[in-house]
Amino acid sequence: MGRVIAVANQKGGVGKTTSAVNLSAGLAHLGYKTLLVDIDPQGNATSGVGVNKADVDHCIYNVLVEDYEAKDVIVSTNVDQLDCIPATIQLAGAEIELVPTISREVRLQKALESSVGLYDFIIIDCPPSLGLLTLNSLTAADSVMIPVQCEYYALEGLSQLLNTVRLVQKHLNKSLEIEGVLLTMLDARTNLGIQVIDEVKKYFQDKVYQSVIPRNVRLGEAPSYGKPILSYDPKSKGADVYLELAKEVIAHGERVR
Ligand code: ADP
Ligand code: MG
Repeated sequence: MGRVIAVANQKGGVGKTTSAVNLSAGLAHLGYKTLLVDIDPQGNATSGVGVNKADVDHCIYNVLVEDYEAKDVIVSTNVDQLDCIPATIQLAGAEIELVPTISREVRLQKALESSVGLYDFIIIDCPPSLGLLTLNSLTAADSVMIPVQCEYYALEGLSQLLNTVRLVQKHLNKSLEIEGVLLTMLDARTNLGIQVIDEVKKYFQDKVYQSVIPRNVRLGEAPSYGKPILSYDPKSKGADVYLELAKEVIAHGERVR
């Protein structure tokens, strides 16, 4: 059975999409069959793996709102071993359209059920909110990965996220775990980054990944070429560190199995 990991933080711009895309590509590169699920209406993960939104017939919207199964909307990507469920702007309406529907929080989980066995990992890129799209992701997931940007107020808002995780554990998905906390966009030239790392480690202890993602120009450029960093610039520091992260995630998956 594949391990389903939701990449979530209701703050925007903390590196969720960059991490979902490059972790997925790293896992695929290491030979693990991986599905990247884009559940953010912005669709940045979709284009980040080279899927052209204009060419997409069906997307995650059809899964959530219209009862399509995951297999009906999965597309392949330009990365070997990596498939994607795309998101288009159509998804923007889903948050509201889902409100009156039955079992509105479990729709993604139900849709993924028949595909979980086909992949080693399923990585879900969440939108920057704690609304129904993120709730669907946390309900469908085995665990949640929380990217935290190395900046002032790094921990701000995390108690809200952790509270949502607890509510999901209580009411929707009692086996949901914290997969890990990922420090992102570290600027090694400043002391601030080091302070933030200490602070986050004090709070989350061994849940913090050894791999810390540096601020890296190449990581910022890769999406405009529709490529994960491992395809865009495999020799970059960004490629190295996301590959290391993928290894940590694999090792953790083997422990929980
Ligand atoms: P989120 O999905 O949490 O909103 P993104 O992954 O989209 O965050 O990142 C926000 C912006 O920062 C994007 O333009 C992305 O390309 C850039 N970015 C993310 N991580 C890095 C990094 N490690 N180094 C440089 N730029 C980054
Ligand atoms: Mg994003």
